[in-house]
Amino acid sequence: MKVVVIGAGLGGLSAAAHLHRSGHEVIIIEREAIPGGRAGMIESDGFRLDNGPTVLTMPQLLEESFTALGVEMSDYVKINKVDPMYRAVYADGSTLMVRHGREAMTEEIRRFSNSTEAAAFEKFCAWLTDLYRLEMDNFIDANFNSPLDLLKPWRAGLELVKMGGFGKLDKKVASFFSDPRLQQIFSFQSMYAGLAPYQALALYAVITYMDSVEGVYVPEGGMHQMAAGLADALVAKGVTFRYNTPVTRILRTGSGAVSGVELGGSDRLEADAVVCNLDLPVAYRTLLGGVEAPRVARRGLYSPSCLLWVAGVKGTPPPEATHHNIHFGADWVGSFKELINKGVMMSDPSILVTLHSLDDSSLAPEGHSSIYVLEPTPNLDGKIDWSRQRDRLTDRLRRQVADLGYPTEVVVEQMYDPLDWEAMGMERGTPFALAHTFLQTGPFRPNNINSKVPGLAFTGSSTLPGVGVPMVLVSGKLAAQRIDRYARDTAIVKW
Ligand SMILES: Cc1cc2nc3c(=O)[nH]c(=O)nc-3n(C[C@H](O)[C@H](O)[C@H](O)COP(=O)(O)OP(=O)(O)OC[C@H]3O[C@@H](n4cnc5c(N)ncnc54)[C@H](O)[C@@H]3O)c2cc1C
Repeated sequence: MKVVVIGAGLGGLSAAAHLHRSGHEVIIIEREAIPGGRAGMIESDGFRLDNGPTVLTMPQLLEESFTALGVEMSDYVKINKVDPMYRAVYADGSTLMVRHGREAMTEEIRRFSNSTEAAAFEKFCAWLTDLYRLEMDNFIDANFNSPLDLLKPWRAGLELVKMGGFGKLDKKVASFFSDPRLQQIFSFQSMYAGLAPYQALALYAVITYMDSVEGVYVPEGGMHQMAAGLADALVAKGVTFRYNTPVTRILRTGSGAVSGVELGGSDRLEADAVVCNLDLPVAYRTLLGGVEAPRVARRGLYSPSCLLWVAGVKGTPPPEATHHNIHFGADWVGSFKELINKGVMMSDPSILVTLHSLDDSSLAPEGHSSIYVLEPTPNLDGKIDWSRQRDRLTDRLRRQVADLGYPTEVVVEQMYDPLDWEAMGMERGTPFALAHTFLQTGPFRPNNINSKVPGLAFTGSSTLPGVGVPMVLVSGKLAAQRIDRYARDTAIVKW
């Protein structure tokens, strides 16, 4: 089949790789000049600044896309461990180094807290590992056609209940650790799923598994290299890319099936099937006039957003700084309430400072550094008028970073707020899509197909299985499976 993939984000690239393996002819149409989408890169004044994801987990899922193309990932992108994975700095001044590898981390917890907590870490890892195995095969790496599909792997479902997967995440983590600082470091990952630890179900500790047990990695040359390397491999295998080309409509036949795409408002490109990598609600609104997005996409709860400051600066970071530095504010639960329930900024914000050039000198000129600072904010459903408050809030962030001792003499910089994310095509101005409440996950998340539009499959963070680099890579594979199935079904009809 001839398949057009709209968008060269990681979801689109992964779908293209898996479609290529099945023998389809694939053309990728991308609005921007480079691949990667949210995993982008700014090149300026000798700096290479990542402006998207910074925490890479589960690199084997990235490798699956290269394997699908029949090439070695290491020929296109080299992946290194980040160790320490995080430096967590608490409001009381204490510092925990989150180490790669269970033994090193157990020792660090013994130093930081005590032997009881160190022993608890072993038990926590065993629980997380079982949780991950249950969820990955049965609920994450799976297409769903109806909520009843959840019951098919009933043994796994029962096991999840027994493991406490349907209790709250904060309580589950507290059942292992009594040190509140450890509870924080092993539950903050729920924020990646758009939820506070007291809202999230314990089954979302699977994100903590990916991060704290499987470990954090970084590609040589920066995070964007994941997408650039995969795009190079696709080109080497004969997949065609058209950059700087916005798709303006998905074309359909009288019966509703896709027949191609409209490019830049005029040209037409015919196709037997289409994979769409845009944020799903935006795709329904802008490319599929007349077909309504699923209710959950229109009315659902969207994840918080973020203020992101990326800069190339003069000078080097303080000696105690590591690749990823989390600076926790004092009021852990209160901060989440401000952000999620009240829709306002955290009064004592927790921020993530990533220093990519610390481990990779190719990313900044000699004597300079790259700095990446992320502060969670409400999305555009919140109470902040960004057009009026942006300057005050960005100044506050810059001051906080300077007060923490990081270099802030800017050579080149870019600031992104929720209005910028919205302008880039992200629903409600959040780059983190629909939150992962139970009723917005698995069969309840907007599906990657729609019976009214045969031949169309969605990939990316607002469909199955969800948000983040590992999940969107899986979503590409799931979308490709949908197109394979469509190809088989229509071949039978034609035959
Ligand atoms: C600041 C930030 C920090 C993050 N941190 C992490 C992290 O640490 N770890 C993690 O795992 N995840 C993180 N994420 C989330 C992760 O980056 C995303 O979930 C993932 O990259 C989304 O990929 P995608 O393929 O769904 O969408 P996108 O990357 O948005 O891809 C969509 C593509 O479609 C293109 N497109 C849009 N409209 C059109 C059109 N009309 N025609 C043609 N092309 C079009 C876009 O240009 C883009 O290339 C972060 C994201 C951001 C922004």
